[in-house]
Amino acid sequence: MSVAPDPEVVAGLDAWRGLPVGQQPAWPDQAALAQVTDRLAALPPLVFAGEADALRAQLAAASRGEAFLLQGGDCAETFAEATADNIRNKIKTILQMAVVLTYGASLPVIKMGRMAGQYAKPRSSGTETRDGVTLPAFRGDIINGFDFTPEARTPDPQRLLEAYHTSASTLNLIRAFTTGGFASLLRVHEWNRGFTTNPAYKRYEEIAAEIDRAIRFMAACGADFDALRTVDFYSSHEGLLLDYERPLTRIDSRTGLPYDCSAHFVWIGERTRELTGAHIDYFSRVQNPIGVKLGPTSTGDDAIALIDKLNPTGEAGRLTFVTRMGAGKIRDHLPQLVEKVTADGRPVTWVCDPMHGNGITSANGYKTRRFSDVMDEVAGFFEVHRALGTVPGGLHIELTGDDVTEVLGGSEEIDDERLTERYETLVDPRLNHQQSLELAFQVVELLRAS
Ligand code: PEP
Ligand code: MN
Repeated sequence: MSVAPDPEVVAGLDAWRGLPVGQQPAWPDQAALAQVTDRLAALPPLVFAGEADALRAQLAAASRGEAFLLQGGDCAETFAEATADNIRNKIKTILQMAVVLTYGASLPVIKMGRMAGQYAKPRSSGTETRDGVTLPAFRGDIINGFDFTPEARTPDPQRLLEAYHTSASTLNLIRAFTTGGFASLLRVHEWNRGFTTNPAYKRYEEIAAEIDRAIRFMAACGADFDALRTVDFYSSHEGLLLDYERPLTRIDSRTGLPYDCSAHFVWIGERTRELTGAHIDYFSRVQNPIGVKLGPTSTGDDAIALIDKLNPTGEAGRLTFVTRMGAGKIRDHLPQLVEKVTADGRPVTWVCDPMHGNGITSANGYKTRRFSDVMDEVAGFFEVHRALGTVPGGLHIELTGDDVTEVLGGSEEIDDERLTERYETLVDPRLNHQQSLELAFQVVELLRAS
């Protein structure tokens, strides 16, 4: 039985068009844009409403300390890098981190990629100047190209369609990997193949061996392993480009309510979360679980006003606050937010993004971060929640499954010089595979203590 939508609810999905909207491209050809958005509106949804509902229930569990969110992936995905190897390596990294956390902290881990749609980037400046030439800034593959030429940098609406199709093929592979046997815990050793010399990999091998032993023990007892063979893996991206999110928003026939079917989870970035702006209005009207990034200038009153807009009835799992304060600020700034929200009583899921408050430029000019700062912010996040008796619900990490050299430090001790070896990101620096595993091992200790 299908429920028809309320016409006012449908009309409300376009209310954002009359509001101030930040970080959108200046499309040169409105007719070409309209053709593309009509086409997108006719294409199948990328995810289903029921999956978003299942995720909302899991995020509600995370808000109570009964699960932990692990959200990770590139700062900006690119079309060229949506290859089988890259996607597999990223999934493998997140699965390995999840195994370490699940086993180490005895807590279900919600696995979510910044994947299959993370193509639009907010920029601090709308233009970029090189050698006296000024062009539009690169805003992500969904909008324009990275090459510094007028052709590449001109926003091209055809890229929305390419983003849709690349997201669809990425999701197809994610679904195949996570339900077709690759993600089975019975194969926990295989995800580590090819990585054996570093301490993080050795520790992973030890855990994998313990899990194997436990599985063999349970098999001998006659246990059934269906729950170990597949994993739920959710997609997420910043809900930045409203010309993309709007046509992918669909009415759920079960309830007559709108869901943004471009991803299971979308978040509103630090730069587009103004209360009276288009993004907050738009995402207040869809049913998906929603995140909002909160930087070091956000106040308790901002947080309450966001709850009023995005989760007025206080439904658990609907709203996640992703704090990104910086290692030097989290211990001072997070408590006032958490205290005010806790006093309000409507539940939120607290997640730590230890990446975006810790950007630095290396002596040789690379945009980078220190692994030690990332870990210090995570530790501060756990300390604040422990002191207040509230729940650290998860982590939001920029990572890749490959051996890039973009973040300083870690047990490989990547230094300024080594940044030159394999610095591949187009926007922000990512933890490499090994640094990601190291982070997971350190987070286990924090989870056990909290
Ligand atoms: C990001 O997540 O890549 C990002 C731009 O974050 P923020 O909105 O927190 O700056
Ligand atoms: Mn980023």
